[in-house]
Amino acid sequence: MLDVDGVLISGRPADGQNWTFSLWKDLGIDPRSLVEQFFSDEWMDVVTGKRDILPALSSSLERVPTSVTAEELIAYWFEMDSRIVNAVLSDCRAVRANGISVYLTTNQEHRRAKYLMETLDLQSEVDGIVYSAQAGVQKPHPDFYDYACKATGRDTSELILVDDTKENVEGAIKAGWDAVHWNDDMRLADVLHRSICK
Ligand SMILES: [Mg+2]
Repeated sequence: MLDVDGVLISGRPADGQNWTFSLWKDLGIDPRSLVEQFFSDEWMDVVTGKRDILPALSSSLERVPTSVTAEELIAYWFEMDSRIVNAVLSDCRAVRANGISVYLTTNQEHRRAKYLMETLDLQSEVDGIVYSAQAGVQKPHPDFYDYACKATGRDTSELILVDDTKENVEGAIKAGWDAVHWNDDMRLADVLHRSICK
């Protein structure tokens, strides 16, 4: 169960910086204002599937304020947050070639989940995706892990989460999964070899 942002995907394609790094220069939007008006305010409902991102972001952008539309900002965001970490992807391919299933397991709203699977074509690289807007809750809520077991048809004892957020790892362990707190110095192949062979 592979987390997306901070594990398989790492920021801007050109340099791995956070997608908002040049937001002011490129679109004239202050990232702090976006955090205030959208991520602190509307994001929880969006990422848990209670509200579509488009109307939520549109009303937030009126308060930023900016003439950039929600569609334009979403297109910019998704493109600037799409650097696939090749070492993780190649280890993911090797793991699957050995018969182990890999699912993306991510706090994500519907549109970016679709973008990841279809536009970035991660659907060709993994066995599926389990994400928060589908589940109705985010990691590390216990219901997220229950949902993931049901969605993949797996028992807790079969699952290992690889995630760069400590709370998510702790939540997985509480749910009876194995879990690894990821950092960029790790190799997925080594992590899985150690966990699966122990
Ligand atoms: Mg992450």
